[in-house]
Amino acid sequence: MAFVDRNDIKRFEHKVWLSSPTMHGEELEYITQAYKSNWMSTVGENINEVERLLSEKIGVKGAVALSAGTAALHLAVKLAGVKPGDKVFCSDMTFSATVNPVTYEGGIPIFIDSERDTWNMDPVALEKAFELYPDVKLVVVAHLYGTPGKIDEIREICKQHGAILIEDAAESLGATYKGKQTGSFGDYNAISFNGNKIITGSSGGMLLSDDITAINHARKWSTQSREDAPWYQHEEIGYNYRMSNVIAGVVRGQIPHLDEHLEQKKRIYFRYREGLKDLPVTMNPYDEVNSSPNFWLSCLLIDLSAMCRQARSDNEAVYIKEEGKSCPTEILETIASFNAEGRPIWKPMHMQPIFRMNPFVTREGNGRSRTNAYISGGRLGSDGLPLDVGADIFQRGLCLPSDNKMTEEEQDVVIEIIRRCFE
Ligand SMILES: *Cc1c(COP(=O)(O)O)cnc(C)c1O
Repeated sequence: MAFVDRNDIKRFEHKVWLSSPTMHGEELEYITQAYKSNWMSTVGENINEVERLLSEKIGVKGAVALSAGTAALHLAVKLAGVKPGDKVFCSDMTFSATVNPVTYEGGIPIFIDSERDTWNMDPVALEKAFELYPDVKLVVVAHLYGTPGKIDEIREICKQHGAILIEDAAESLGATYKGKQTGSFGDYNAISFNGNKIITGSSGGMLLSDDITAINHARKWSTQSREDAPWYQHEEIGYNYRMSNVIAGVVRGQIPHLDEHLEQKKRIYFRYREGLKDLPVTMNPYDEVNSSPNFWLSCLLIDLSAMCRQARSDNEAVYIKEEGKSCPTEILETIASFNAEGRPIWKPMHMQPIFRMNPFVTREGNGRSRTNAYISGGRLGSDGLPLDVGADIFQRGLCLPSDNKMTEEEQDVVIEIIRRCFE
């Protein structure tokens, strides 16, 4: 590391987190209300209210509160009717929770490369994928780090091919595309209240849809598929996926603070953008005309020409320090040594050992052979950048401390630390 022994920057006394829960007090009131009224189960007013408030906010007709965003995605995949052996187009650069539920139903994820404009699913690559696999009937798309993907175009492509769309809006609650909330574009949509998301229940998730019949079916599945009968009668396999009324109390207390959290995250993003503007880096990009992200995490991309040499195996990273250059490994190690938390970009699914046999489609067609573009000196596109966009962003990008309780002074120090990595 470049300068850990310089003593003009002090280690943060309190850890500066990537993104931690921010409580306000109302959460405790709603939990207490559940406790005092003894609705300490998966039924109660908090659950009803979070379903009502969030379906209203997002602009969909129905919602069912669940134990996790992953559960919501699983039920969405079931509603889409995925059967063993069905191929499903999925975002490639995302958290594994986007794609795991496809495999729970025996589906085979086919990964669609990311685009440089938003870091989300590339509509051009998706078109390409439908040429290669015309029978596919489901697309699962995530909005990474709270930045909306080109969801209108993607929805149109799905329509043309008669495919169902699932939107994974776990990271993007409150973000809009062309004035509409993410989580309202898909046939079935999932959000998450995991501890590090923009609002949290400590855990929890929600499935949203305009299709009330589908929502009611998901609600039934989530409570062990009980039929309407005087005893426990079952015609379908069920799940224990319902949200607890206590968790719902936390979510309910957070909902009034969503916009405030979003504003704080937005300020953090633009302070980074301003503070880092003379370095050879860019921030995670978004469609500034059509979209309004929730700025959940601020991310950096280092210019190709300013990358020092960095190599990653399955579980280790090394780099060679070069003057005027840096890399995600150096920056992450350095900010960690000052007690601040960053994170690598989500490692693309097509680079994950568990999915090594799954197809991967770039905008030029099948991209498997170029997975290790950096290591094997793979081909570059006409923009002079590697053709495997996800692998390239993973190699050169990182998530910065984006906690809404980080002070401006703390953020200035993080910026100074990054600056010195490039000395
Ligand atoms: C957090 C997250 C999920 C899963 O949500 P859980 O509530 O943790 O199950 C799904 N997809 C993405 C992109 C996420 O970031």
